Amino acid sequence: QQRNHKEHVLLFPYMAQGHIIPFMELAKLIHHRRRCTITVVSTPSNIRALTSSFPLTPTFRLVPLPFDPTHHSLPSSSESTDTLPLHHLVNLFHASRSLRPAFSALLSDILSSPSAPSRLCVIADVFTSWACEVADSLGVYHAVFTTGGGYGTTAYFSLWKHLPHAHTDADEFAVPGFPDSFRLRRSQLSSYMRAADGADRWSAFFQPAIATSLKSKSMLCNSVEEVETTGFRLLRDYTGLRVYDVGPLLPFPDDKKSSYKRAGKAHGLSVDACVEWLDAHPPNSVLYVSFGSQNSISARQMMELAKGIEASGKAFIWVIRPPVEFDIGGEFKNEWLPEGFEERARERARGVLVRDWAPQLEILSHASTGAFLSHCGWNSALESLSRGVPMIGWPMAAEQFYNSVMLEGELGVCVEVARGKEVVVSGEEVERVVREVMGGERGVEMRRRAVEVRGLFEEAMREGDGETKGSSLRAIDEFLEVALSGKSEMN
Ligand code: UDP
Repeated sequence: QQRNHKEHVLLFPYMAQGHIIPFMELAKLIHHRRRCTITVVSTPSNIRALTSSFPLTPTFRLVPLPFDPTHHSLPSSSESTDTLPLHHLVNLFHASRSLRPAFSALLSDILSSPSAPSRLCVIADVFTSWACEVADSLGVYHAVFTTGGGYGTTAYFSLWKHLPHAHTDADEFAVPGFPDSFRLRRSQLSSYMRAADGADRWSAFFQPAIATSLKSKSMLCNSVEEVETTGFRLLRDYTGLRVYDVGPLLPFPDDKKSSYKRAGKAHGLSVDACVEWLDAHPPNSVLYVSFGSQNSISARQMMELAKGIEASGKAFIWVIRPPVEFDIGGEFKNEWLPEGFEERARERARGVLVRDWAPQLEILSHASTGAFLSHCGWNSALESLSRGVPMIGWPMAAEQFYNSVMLEGELGVCVEVARGKEVVVSGEEVERVVREVMGGERGVEMRRRAVEVRGLFEEAMREGDGETKGSSLRAIDEFLEVALSGKSEMN
């Protein structure tokens, strides 16, 4: 099939692994379905890291936009959230807006080049939604892509926009856009949202980013209509936008290497080593523990979590980083764990501690993995469910709290063990939940439901014609027709 150089899609993820990974998968999906030219933009070090995994071709381009972190009170190597301490996260959000002139120049160059496409479309992150304003000013079609789910995105948008907790002293509060019966607690807010009053730096970033997202022409969402029926209804009603469910966009694990590796990180366990270790364990017997690409727990919680895992007697792979109170990108010290924890785990082939980065999808794909103790980042949730693996939730930030509520309450595939970085959870409680999910009747039922969701994911991405085509493929094809052929939007 011939490539279509007349059509061009430009994608702009926010600079965090949990955003870059699904954006790249979206880019690949579009490239595959429409045969058009793709450009993904980010800051230089993110583009360098991606270039090592995705060789450039004339129709799949990765373009760096100049960026100097030190101009924004950030450490010199900080171009993504990965190793950024919490107090710097807000600076990166604000700094991302400085990419606007370079983005604007790139878009103008594409439009005025001799080989200018006849159809161009910009897909921005909900956190880089100002790129839609730039596109709009140049007459280019634009959409936002939320890397969260329907339910989580609605809750996150609504909470930042209305800050309902800031208008009451009560612990429980209603959330605009949700049924009155739906209540959240303060403990289900990240520390920075809890402290937000509309005049703080977090609100100063999120409120305009969300307002601009709501002005885009349409929204793509990394989820599946049949799995998140309520979530999509809420998202459509709340945003008033045409929402296309195009998930699950998952990294495609190849045989020998994980495609997404962070630049300069060599501490992770290789895929081979991981698979070999898992091969030596019975089906559904290993607990996988990871808090995503940018989170960690407190030193006190880490100690209790380790005690709980050890007491449960379950084998485990734990992706471990220094506790939040320390340099999260720094070296891990064994003093943060019970004495002799790692040695005992190693001697009895009971557990592996992975420093910093693990081949997550390969681990979740292995038959020996029985449950995933996760911060409920949306990509992690999609990856777990796509492999039929039930979850133990420990949400920490962003929309993870609402993902956890949905995964437990609506899908029945998760049990929340703790939330946030401050709460005190005991080793006994961790042990109880691990046993419940990896041994008890509830665990069997959770696995059954997770396998059901896996089936719905597979159906959504099924190739076919007309009605036989999966809902997510139908949605992406429809979106591309509207975005690139100028077909009018049908709500
Ligand atoms: N990830 C990984 N190895 C790790 C930690 C994370 O491969 O050790 C990947 C994970 O598979 C997922 C992404 O990084 O695709 C994390 O995204 P998520 O939305 O779960 O959480 P975030 O990092 O945005 O908090």
